[in-house]
Amino acid sequence: MINDRSSLTIRGIGAAPGIAIGKAFLLERGQIPVPRYRLFGEQSVAEECKRFEAAVKEAEADLETIKKSIRSEFSDHARLLEVQQMILRDPSIYDESLRYIREERTNAQLAVIKALRKAKELFSGLSNDEYAKSRIADVDAVGDRVVRILAGQSRSDLDHLREGAVIIAHDLSPADAIQLQAGRTLGIVTEIGGSFSHTSIVARSLGIPAVTGAEHAARLIAENDFIIVDGRTGVIIINPGETELEFYANRQDEIQTYLKQISRHSHLPAQTSDGHRVGAEANIEAIEEIVAAKDNGAEGIGLYRTEFFFMNRVELPDEESLYRDYHDLAELMAPSPVTIRTLDLGADKLTSWCPTLEEPNPALGLRSIRLCLHYKEIFKTQLRAMLRASAVAGNIRLMLPLISGMGEIFEARKIFREIQAELTKKRIPFDKNMPFGAMIELPSAVAMADLIAQEVDFFSIGTNDLIQYSIGIDRSNEHVAYLYEPLHPGVLRFIKQTVDAAHDAGIPVAVCGEMAGEPLYVPILLGLKINSFSMNPVALPRVKNLIRRSSMKECCRFVEKVLRMRTASEIEEAVSKMVMKKFPEEFHVFDPNWIGNTPLAAKKKSGS
Ligand code: PEP
Ligand code: MG
Repeated sequence: MINDRSSLTIRGIGAAPGIAIGKAFLLERGQIPVPRYRLFGEQSVAEECKRFEAAVKEAEADLETIKKSIRSEFSDHARLLEVQQMILRDPSIYDESLRYIREERTNAQLAVIKALRKAKELFSGLSNDEYAKSRIADVDAVGDRVVRILAGQSRSDLDHLREGAVIIAHDLSPADAIQLQAGRTLGIVTEIGGSFSHTSIVARSLGIPAVTGAEHAARLIAENDFIIVDGRTGVIIINPGETELEFYANRQDEIQTYLKQISRHSHLPAQTSDGHRVGAEANIEAIEEIVAAKDNGAEGIGLYRTEFFFMNRVELPDEESLYRDYHDLAELMAPSPVTIRTLDLGADKLTSWCPTLEEPNPALGLRSIRLCLHYKEIFKTQLRAMLRASAVAGNIRLMLPLISGMGEIFEARKIFREIQAELTKKRIPFDKNMPFGAMIELPSAVAMADLIAQEVDFFSIGTNDLIQYSIGIDRSNEHVAYLYEPLHPGVLRFIKQTVDAAHDAGIPVAVCGEMAGEPLYVPILLGLKINSFSMNPVALPRVKNLIRRSSMKECCRFVEKVLRMRTASEIEEAVSKMVMKKFPEEFHVFDPNWIGNTPLAAKKKSGS
């Protein structure tokens, strides 16, 4: 069917569903080869100095243009660019680069790289100055910009993203992804990364089709190549023929028609055909996503990833700006509940001021609640803002990420009580009954779930991390993506154990990992008796539709059988059969070759 000699098909990992058809925009950040040569004669030294000075001027002008075009909600990003403008003219980089050109007669690119290296060593040497250390990321960004201009590639940057293009990049950070806009960005292709990285999560939230782990994509795809990206199957077609184009344009239509049709019912309750009611809430990374959450029938916010508010800015947000953010969120969603997760920075979610940039193994490092308990002032500021905002409508719930055991619960609770006492003393109102919950995302938390459940008001299972830490694979690494098995019997047992512990203690349990937003897993999660599903807003209509068409009794019977199975492949096959039989149109529309693209098929493909 799809076979045209002029086109080239490559495959990556389907990371955000949907079809994108458009021209490629190559984002080559971090991939610039640096030529090295010596300059001969005064004339060439003088010319190289001029070339360097002109590149700095161009970089300054670029930053100015970008600053002016920044969306108002990312105004802090503008301040970050100001810092970069200052770094450009800093003598340790500007004068030092010129010195290398004049005295050592190195070419401009190499001179910049050398000056940067020296400046970075200086920053990292200031061991007590976290702020100075955090400037390393800005120094890198500045260096990258100048080197790129010197190499004549100034236009291939995210800042210059053309309207309606498909971004092709080696990698894209979550901080970059959050600045993209659906519509303006048709699709994303990256060479590295898995489908559970935060970049993929952001793409799903924005409804932008994405493929990750597409090896050599940036080499095989040229700027302005016409491409098709299938974010479900991971297929990328470069310069497609007419037949392919027609096929995918039809698929795009089919998907849109189906989504329109099921969206009509997305405001109905998430209730199974035999009357079992569950929650259907939204995960958001920024307050602007409330519109999508409401439009898609969210009954509340099950996860607000507050760390994105801390990204793309020069310094820590102050209590007032956090308060305003939480206040607006609570007010706009009232009376529906809003679950605000405390700062979950670290691992792949970094900011320029984040003090953990240099960790050798960041996924196991000072991230999340550990970071908050280490840098208590950051944590206290956030809790104060959250408590103050809770007075608005009494609908805020607090949620702690990456809890590993009772110690962290006790410590966090102690700080929480101290802040409450402080506010009471100052007669500042807050919701005294604000629910206090814990995410279950580590095997140790599952083992302790019965005791943790005695101390908190709710659980929310973060399956993205729970899968990563229980199977021991990096969720952002494309090389082990085939091992990322949500249906691994060990993972399902962990979920069951957590649900049982919660229910024995009389508290509800949600799933807010990506598993909750994947229609394929609806029968399993229902049968495991979770109380609420929280997912990216775009997934809500599909998941709610399947919940409404499922029978709780059948799902429980199915899960009983599944829990006796011994391998992920066995379970995947059983789930495939079940959903294909029960919901054929859902899986026909989203992926006619779906059976061939299960995680099982991906594993077979990789030869394991
Ligand atoms: C999770 O780990 O499942 C989760 C919801 O948190 P995050 O993806 O932000 O780590
Ligand atoms: Mg997590």
